[in-house]
Amino acid sequence: MDFSRVDLTADEQSFLDEIREFLATHVTDDVRRRDRETGDNFDEAVHLAMGAAGYLEREYRTEEQGGFDRVRRRLWELEKRRVHVPWVTWGTTSIVARSVENFGSPEIRDEVLSKVFSGHVRLCLGYTEPDGGSDIATCKTRAVRDGDDWVVNGSKMFTTGAHNCQYTFLITNTDPHAKKHKSLTMFLVPLDTPGIEIQPLWTVDGDRTNIVYYSDVRISDKYRLGEVNEGWTVLRGPLDTEHGVSAANSDGLEDVSILQHQGSYMATTVDKVAATVSTPDDAGRRRIDDGSVSYRLGRNVARVEASLSTPNMYGRVALAQAMRDVAPELMDILGPAAVLPIETAGAADDGASEYLFRWAPLCGIYGGTLEVFRNMIAQHALGLGRPSYAQTRAPAS
Ligand SMILES: Cc1cc2nc3c(=O)[nH]c(=O)nc-3n(C[C@H](O)[C@H](O)[C@H](O)COP(=O)(O)OP(=O)(O)OC[C@H]3O[C@@H](n4cnc5c(N)ncnc54)[C@H](O)[C@@H]3O)c2cc1C
Repeated sequence: MDFSRVDLTADEQSFLDEIREFLATHVTDDVRRRDRETGDNFDEAVHLAMGAAGYLEREYRTEEQGGFDRVRRRLWELEKRRVHVPWVTWGTTSIVARSVENFGSPEIRDEVLSKVFSGHVRLCLGYTEPDGGSDIATCKTRAVRDGDDWVVNGSKMFTTGAHNCQYTFLITNTDPHAKKHKSLTMFLVPLDTPGIEIQPLWTVDGDRTNIVYYSDVRISDKYRLGEVNEGWTVLRGPLDTEHGVSAANSDGLEDVSILQHQGSYMATTVDKVAATVSTPDDAGRRRIDDGSVSYRLGRNVARVEASLSTPNMYGRVALAQAMRDVAPELMDILGPAAVLPIETAGAADDGASEYLFRWAPLCGIYGGTLEVFRNMIAQHALGLGRPSYAQTRAPAS
């Protein structure tokens, strides 16, 4: 891996200046505060401004298609992360837009894509159901053909961003008698269709997600993506992206794994704790001079660095696990004031570790749980075979 610094050309430097100014203008303290209050991880004004400036389309497109080149893309990603741009809805939108491009009819592509790039259309993921999300092929939400339409009934858990989106990328079951991977059909469902009800759900870290109910929702066949009962073919690309299974380029201009955004928050939090314990109190004492504090802090810095440098699917597991391990240690190091949340008087590190502690469990759940990823690594990367959960019978006495 190459950790070297990239020397920017004059053009690249002026691009960096341009995006810094753009982000400073639009991603204000108010935006960040509102984002914490709503848990939306989306800000419409910021999103529309990015669309109007052409950044959404340039981020989405490859360099050959007129998008950012690799250096500009990296600068854009890192600057957005540095200023904490609310990101989740653009993340789901760009994943689904690729499926619309690859599998949608020309009519749907026209209806959706240009408005995705202007920011006016956003797309969310309707995979998980109340009965389970890890094995999404067990989908029970039914779509039944009725003339030129389909009628959808069912419910989806954790449809993040649905209340800020115009369409959901919905997995449906169109043949309950077929084998599970041959029973699925994908639709892009307009969220203003009668029969759809969106109910809010807040997670322990304050994120807003949704339960979405579908009752006799009638949608035209033009919203089908891919062939009937071939939904698994449509889903494969989006799932690979969300799982972070594709290998990153190792030249330093790309995240080496998914969840680096979360990892960078963890790294910043460790830095804040290091600064706090290195600052003398009124009596001139520094907590870092206590051997147990410096030992634990050092161990956690090493964990953070190792997880940030671990590539691909391994990196995803390393980061989510490190967040769970590091957050309680940081709170211990800081003492009782570490339980006070952000913007509370007296909070030890302005609530950074406390937030990390509440965020960490979620990062090992969404997009696939830590347990499922460990099994995938064992089975597909290490070739250890399928896990067996059968109960072993005690030998007869
Ligand atoms: C904040 C948040 C946002 C989310 N956003 C979205 C979204 O936008 N769209 C969407 O569709 N979903 C979303 N999800 C859902 C998420 O993808 C699922 O929660 C996740 O896939 C796990 O599914 P589940 O919660 O149904 O758990 P289950 O699948 O019911 O699993 C329960 C437990 O069993 C374990 N388990 C299950 N299968 C295995 C296995 N094969 N091997 C070992 N252990 C196993 C799991 O690790 C877990 O501990 C979101 C979740 C959260 C928390």
